Amino acid sequence: MTAPVTGRPVRSYGVFIDGAEVQPSEEFIARENPGTKEVVARFTHGGLDQAQAAVAAARRAFDQGDWPNRSGQERAAVLRTLASLIRRDQETLARIDAEESGKPIRLARADVATGIALTEYAAALAVTSHGQVHTNLGEGFTGLVTREPCGVVAMITPWNFPLLLLMQKLPFALAAGCTAVCKPSELTSGSTLEIAKLAAEAGLPSGVFNVVTGPGSTVGHHLAQSGDVDVLSFTGSTAVGRSVVEASAGNLKRLSLELGGKAASVVFPDADLEDAVDGVLFAVLFNQGECCVSGARLLVHQDVADRFVQALVDRVSTLRVGAPLDEDADIGALIHAAHLDKVLASVDAARTEGARVVAGGTRLTSDGLDAGYFMAPTIIDQVSPTSRLFHEEVFGPVLAISRFRTEDEAVELANAVDYGLANSVWSKNIDTALALGRRLRSGTVWVNTTIDGAPQLPGGGVKSSGYGREMGQAGFEEFTEVKTVQIRSGKRTPFFRGGAQ
Ligand code: NAD
Repeated sequence: MTAPVTGRPVRSYGVFIDGAEVQPSEEFIARENPGTKEVVARFTHGGLDQAQAAVAAARRAFDQGDWPNRSGQERAAVLRTLASLIRRDQETLARIDAEESGKPIRLARADVATGIALTEYAAALAVTSHGQVHTNLGEGFTGLVTREPCGVVAMITPWNFPLLLLMQKLPFALAAGCTAVCKPSELTSGSTLEIAKLAAEAGLPSGVFNVVTGPGSTVGHHLAQSGDVDVLSFTGSTAVGRSVVEASAGNLKRLSLELGGKAASVVFPDADLEDAVDGVLFAVLFNQGECCVSGARLLVHQDVADRFVQALVDRVSTLRVGAPLDEDADIGALIHAAHLDKVLASVDAARTEGARVVAGGTRLTSDGLDAGYFMAPTIIDQVSPTSRLFHEEVFGPVLAISRFRTEDEAVELANAVDYGLANSVWSKNIDTALALGRRLRSGTVWVNTTIDGAPQLPGGGVKSSGYGREMGQAGFEEFTEVKTVQIRSGKRTPFFRGGAQ
C-alpha cells in the first residue's frame, strides 16, 4: 500500500492495553480507502509482546479487578454511557468504517446505529439476567443454578462490518462480567480502537477491554492458543476458523465461530414479486456482497423465472455504484485489489462452466471510479448446482441463479451447500413459509424479508458456517458459565454403616 497520502490527515493509532493507548510503533500497517486509494489510517503492527501484554491485562482485570463482581446495575450504567458516547460520535465512527472498508456511508451509519441498539440491549440483559432457585428437591435440599462470567474473552473480527461485528460480541461479554481482548482485521481496525477509547471514557475499568492490531498469524494466533484466554469468539472465514479450532485445543477454551456462508433467496410464484425483486437484490448487493449472510444464490420457481430474472436485470441497471463517502451510493468499493480480482475470476469460471452473465461481470472504471476497486453488480443465470459458483463463497456483488419446480427440489438445492448461515423465502403462502422455515438448514430463515434483525434475535450458523450464537439471550449466554450450588441443610444422614453405634 504505497499510495501517496493526499487530502485529509491520516489517522494514526497505537494499540490499547490496560486502559491506555500505547503510542504507535515504528512499524505500521497503512490502510487506504479502497474507493480512492488514499491512505486514511495507520495501525500499529502489533506482535507477540503486545498480544501477551493485552491478555495479561485482561486476565488481571478479571482475576483481581472488580468488574466481574459489580452488580448488573453498575455494568449496565457503563454500557448505557458507552451507547450514548457512540451516539455522540456516530458520524465520525461511520466515516471511519466507510473509509477503511469501502462501504457506502449510509450503510456505515446504519451499522453504527445497530451497534448502539445492541449496546443498550446488552445493558438491559446485565440488569435482568438472573439464576434459578430449586426449592422442590426434598426437605433440606436447595439448588442454586447461577450464571457466572466465563473469564477472558478473545474476539477476532473481519473487515466487512468492523464496528457492527465487534458490537455483536463486546457489549454482551461486558454485560456478563467478562474482560476482553480484541484483534480486529488489520485492514479496518480504526473503529474498534475508537470504541476502546469510548469505553474507557464511559468508565470501563482499565484492562477490561484491550485491542491489539496486527496480523492474524501472530496476534490472532496467540489469542487462539493462549492458556489465559477462556473463550474465543471468532468471526471470519471458514478456513481460518478451522485453524483457530486447532490452535485453541491446548486449554480446550470455549469457541464461538461465525464463519462463511452461501445463502439462498428462494422465490415461489405466489410471492409479491415486486417485493421479491427488491429483496433479492438487497440480499446480494448489501455491503457489495461482502457479507456472510449475503443472498448469493437465487433459487426461483421455473414458472416465474424468466420474467423475474428480467425484472432483476432492469432494476440492477438503476443502482448507483459510488465512492464510500458518496451520499447517494447504493454499492461501494470492494476491500482491495486482490479481492476484486478473485471475484472477477469467479465470474470467468462460471462462464467457463456454462452459466450466462446477464448483467455486470466487469470492473467499473468510468465516472470517477477508476481510482478504486469497484465492480458492476452482476447477475449470472443458468448456474448449475454442480458448479463452483453455486457452492463457493464469492463475497462480492454476484448473484447466481438456478431454477426449481417443486418445494422439495427448492429445499434440496438450498441445503446442498456446505454452509448454513441464513436463507430467505419469498412466498405469501403460510404453509410454504412454515415448511421451509423448518426444512432449511441454516441458523436464520427470513420470510418475505432478508438481512433483517433486532438485538433480541440471535444469529449464527450450522454446518461449515460455525457454531455458537451472537445477540439475543443466547448471545449473552455464550459469555456465561452455568454453575450449580447444591445445599443440604439440617443434620446429615450418614452413608457408611461401619462403626455405627
Ligand atoms: P479472515 O478469516 O481472513 O480473517 C478474520 C480475522 O481472523 C482477521 O482479524 C484476521 O486477521 C484473523 N486471522 C487470520 N489468520 C488468523 C490465524 N491464523 N489465527 C487467528 N486469527 C487469524 O476473514 P476476512 O477476510 O477478514 O472476512 C471475510 C470472511 O468472514 C468471510 O468468509 C465471511 O463470510 C466471514 N464473516 C462471517 C460472519 C458471520 O457472522 N458468520 C460475519 C462477517 C464475515
